[in-house]
Amino acid sequence: MKNLGKPVPKDLDKHKELAKAITGLSGSPDLDFQNTEIAFSHLSDAELKRSCRLFGLMNRHWLVGLGAKIGVPAIKLKLPFVESVVKNTIFHQFCGGTTLLETQETIDKLKEKNVLTILDYGAEGKESEEEYNITMNETIRAIQFAGKSDAVPVVSSKMTGLVSNALLEKLQSGEKLTSAERRDYRSLLKRIDAICYNASINNTAIFFDAEESWIQDSIDHVVTIMMRRYNKKKVVVYNTLQMYRTDRLQYLIDSFELAEKRGYLLGAKLVRGAYMEKERERAAEMGYPSPIHPNKTATDEAYDAGIQFCLSNYEKIALCNASHNEKSNWLMAQFIAEKKLPKSHPHLNFSQLYGMSDNITFNLAYAGYNVAKYVPYGPIAEVVPYLIRRAEENSSVTGDMSREFKLVQKEIKRRGI
Ligand SMILES: Cc1cc2nc3c(=O)[nH]c(=O)nc-3n(C[C@H](O)[C@H](O)[C@H](O)COP(=O)(O)OP(=O)(O)OC[C@H]3O[C@@H](n4cnc5c(N)ncnc54)[C@H](O)[C@@H]3O)c2cc1C
Repeated sequence: MKNLGKPVPKDLDKHKELAKAITGLSGSPDLDFQNTEIAFSHLSDAELKRSCRLFGLMNRHWLVGLGAKIGVPAIKLKLPFVESVVKNTIFHQFCGGTTLLETQETIDKLKEKNVLTILDYGAEGKESEEEYNITMNETIRAIQFAGKSDAVPVVSSKMTGLVSNALLEKLQSGEKLTSAERRDYRSLLKRIDAICYNASINNTAIFFDAEESWIQDSIDHVVTIMMRRYNKKKVVVYNTLQMYRTDRLQYLIDSFELAEKRGYLLGAKLVRGAYMEKERERAAEMGYPSPIHPNKTATDEAYDAGIQFCLSNYEKIALCNASHNEKSNWLMAQFIAEKKLPKSHPHLNFSQLYGMSDNITFNLAYAGYNVAKYVPYGPIAEVVPYLIRRAEENSSVTGDMSREFKLVQKEIKRRGI
């Protein structure tokens, strides 16, 4: 292994040592994630109260479960009032708009506070060639829109909106594809190439989301081809690595070695991962070892070690630290301060989802770091799976208040409203 910056050990015990080493850094970034005044300065009193009511409702686990069961068919059946109720509540909290044009207001509002936007056309789980082409065209339209804006550096895409899950799974299994499947695979490569090419000529980057482990190898394969093609001089294409997986720290190191060997730059968006329960259930049902770390501490250690690895090699790896975890965001800011790295370097990026963790986003932006909100948009029926994931993330089985609910309440108290 050459030129890897700080050497990163290959097994979990050593990851732990690394995580401890990061906490030992002494730099003190000019940040306060508890400052709710900065965090919510973009919201009027009425908007803040509206968020508070919504987080209060989402906090109830049974209500979220019921909403997911009844709401999805009601939207699909186009029942009267359902769309407008969803649009004015949960959609308004977590999405930028139903069309690109509608998101402009959100983009402008964020930019006023120095926060950039990552546009994400919310299509996933598509099943026909016609639908895949619609997703591709929408993504390219978003890229062209981003190319004209200094507030939108990145567009995000889900490969599951561009090809069937079944094909991704079969590709990964190593089974021989039929001739129709080979044709579909070639179509996927063409769609992805059109997206990446458009990103490269529009001076915009493109993120590919990470999905379930049984289709992720196929996604990694395609994204790696694109990184090799488009990341020669600067980073256009980013892959996503879910650090809750036991193999991902090693995969990060291997991806970097490959990029070095083949002469391109690595784009790495790091997340913890959104499908933990599903992953564990499938592994138990099918009798293979779970690919997920055994506990939260192990995931956190792998995540922070991954961040440290990317930062140690920041000239050759463009990092997006995509997390709502205060410590992981703090560690990166601390590293940048300690090593006196330029805060605005294009490879040093933070991101949180729109409508969540404003305390992290707006305080990072206030202190001058590169930070962007991930802003999904699209017709209500398209973004429903995304909205359900957000509602579940903010609900509580035990009745404890969610992180977001507490923060909004703290600011309401501070404003005395
Ligand atoms: C900008 C952005 C983009 C994203 N893109 C993707 C994507 O492409 N693919 C994707 O899968 N997710 C994506 N996510 C979601 C992300 O994976 C996490 O689900 C979510 O952000 C919560 O993790 P956290 O880092 O914010 O922090 P935390 O709230 O500290 O961590 C929660 C996460 O820790 C892990 N965890 C919790 N309990 C355990 C346990 N007992 N054992 C092991 N691990 C545990 C899980 O991953 C859980 O989601 C994205 C998030 C953001 C902010």
